[in-house]
Amino acid sequence: MSDQPEIVIIGAGAAGVGAGMELAKRGVPFVVLEASARVGGRAYTDKTSLPYAWDKGCHWMHCADVNPLVAEADRVGTKYLTDARDDWNAVWANGGWADGAGRAATLSAMDAAFAAVDEAGARGQDVPIADILPDTGDLAPIVRLWIQLMSSGDPEQVSARGYADYAETNLNWPVKSGYGDLIERLAEGLPMRLETPVSGIEQRADSVRVTTRSGTIEAKAAIVTASTAVLNTGAIEIGAGPARDLLALVENVPCGFCEKVAIAFDRDLFGHIEQPSVNVLPQDGSEPINFQFANFGDPMVIGHVAGSVAGELVAEGDAAMVEFAMQRLVAAFGSDIKSRMVNAATTDWGSNPFVRGGYSFARPGCAHLRHQMIEADTGNLAFAGEAFSRQWQATAHGAWASGRDVAGRLVDNFRPGK
Ligand SMILES: Cc1cc2nc3c(=O)[nH]c(=O)nc-3n(C[C@H](O)[C@H](O)[C@H](O)COP(=O)(O)OP(=O)(O)OC[C@H]3O[C@@H](n4cnc5c(N)ncnc54)[C@H](O)[C@@H]3O)c2cc1C
Repeated sequence: MSDQPEIVIIGAGAAGVGAGMELAKRGVPFVVLEASARVGGRAYTDKTSLPYAWDKGCHWMHCADVNPLVAEADRVGTKYLTDARDDWNAVWANGGWADGAGRAATLSAMDAAFAAVDEAGARGQDVPIADILPDTGDLAPIVRLWIQLMSSGDPEQVSARGYADYAETNLNWPVKSGYGDLIERLAEGLPMRLETPVSGIEQRADSVRVTTRSGTIEAKAAIVTASTAVLNTGAIEIGAGPARDLLALVENVPCGFCEKVAIAFDRDLFGHIEQPSVNVLPQDGSEPINFQFANFGDPMVIGHVAGSVAGELVAEGDAAMVEFAMQRLVAAFGSDIKSRMVNAATTDWGSNPFVRGGYSFARPGCAHLRHQMIEADTGNLAFAGEAFSRQWQATAHGAWASGRDVAGRLVDNFRPGK
């Protein structure tokens, strides 16, 4: 490969890495420009904040039976669990632990909610998810929490039809050695410049000019993989042309919020809980949280919050996030738990200037605009990423496959024969 890149990839998350792997396979000279100091974007295995590694972003290989990253994970020796369980969720509500019947009722409420979203999607109802949810009574806050966790928006903000585009197979495998670690391994050997934020791209008839603080790169084509939340801030100034026109569509596919709080303990306090996913609904009517207990046997819990609750917490900062999670642990397990805490760490996706949110969703009335955004031909300046995945939006494998596919199409168009 010559040193002069023919294609510039902007962003080294799953999509940028997917695009880079495709270009490397086809022998096309390219470079990946990444704003931050690390590879992976929203795939990030934190190995230093706590005594145990944990994924700050993606953790599950969703749709594992059709997920193209499973084969890549096998190739590089990534470890993951294939344990499929029906009885996954424990529930602490009304001041106590739900029994088997209570857990089953919670699962049916969630199933009914997601079935309603699917049915609305099949009917083409491009309305807020909140408008089509069944009445789930006391369990409504847990249903709301799960809509938020799955979409990163509030049910009032997210299109039912847009959400239902997701081709769910209900097989989800957690990545034991870290999803972030997997993306990092896949990126090994790809030509990469870290700490190189792109501030502008000029689209010309047969070239693109990409501006960074260390100079300008001219290439035949470029692929932008920054999140829609970043694109919507205008942090990457795109000159007049079909790529800039696309940004009007991207505005309708924003990112919501999804954040995690990980708390490590000095010993296993939760071995007696058989369900690894625990929903805690405080008695005072305040917001619930979902915990993943015992991350692969390590004495820690990982709390998950999303939607506007997560947006508010991330704006308040680390201490507020830890307090939010700890209050709910104390409610369910008693105040002694506080003294067993070794350390805590939080995410800050919503305030990270190179991400600015959780993952994307189509606003009500805009599901078709998301399709147009994905199908638009923007010539030699193309877009990829989780938001640009037609059926696997909001996921790491959707992002990776979108990068791979967009890179393949660019080469087919701009380098016939390759
Ligand atoms: C808390 C959380 C949990 C999640 N859980 C799961 C899960 O379990 N399973 C799953 O499949 N998915 C999950 N996801 C979603 C998944 O992580 C993302 O969909 C996916 O990683 C996005 O990849 P991407 O390449 O599209 O975007 P990103 O990962 O955001 O990559 C874009 C890259 O572009 C860089 N960038 C931005 N601006 C510039 C610029 N100006 N110049 C150069 N570079 C720039 C960024 O730094 C970033 O590295 C989760 C996400 C979050 C936040």
